Amino acid sequence: MTISKPVLDAFIDDHLSEQETIRVEKAVRESPELQAQLSSIIASRDMGDHSIGAIWRREHLSCPTREELLSYKDEALDPMRLDYIKFHLETVGCKACKANLSDLIPSSNSNTDPAIMKKHLQFLENSKVLLPKRP
Ligand SMILES: [Zn+2]
Repeated sequence: MTISKPVLDAFIDDHLSEQETIRVEKAVRESPELQAQLSSIIASRDMGDHSIGAIWRREHLSCPTREELLSYKDEALDPMRLDYIKFHLETVGCKACKANLSDLIPSSNSNTDPAIMKKHLQFLENSKVLLPKRP
């Protein structure tokens, strides 16, 4: 099995899906060649890898904005952009965007779900006893 440099780059940047990460990790462990390749990539980064590809990945330039993620959630984007974001989230499995998205979803739901609000208030009420009494 061969692993390309872009995949190794994504591995270093933690941009792979969990499954892919496990696959690459295992391959690297078993192959001295891949280990050498990986450490040479890391070394060249430490020297300052200023290639467009490197900057692109580092700055998450292919990532949709939070506004776009919000629109994606509501399917309020043009179909091509929706497709791209779906690809970015589900196929590329971008962790930064997944985290952003899951951050966006509960914030718009929690206030409208009375059961969650009730639990939250209950929790606050119950934890009062743990706080030091004000003098
Ligand atoms: Zn992303």
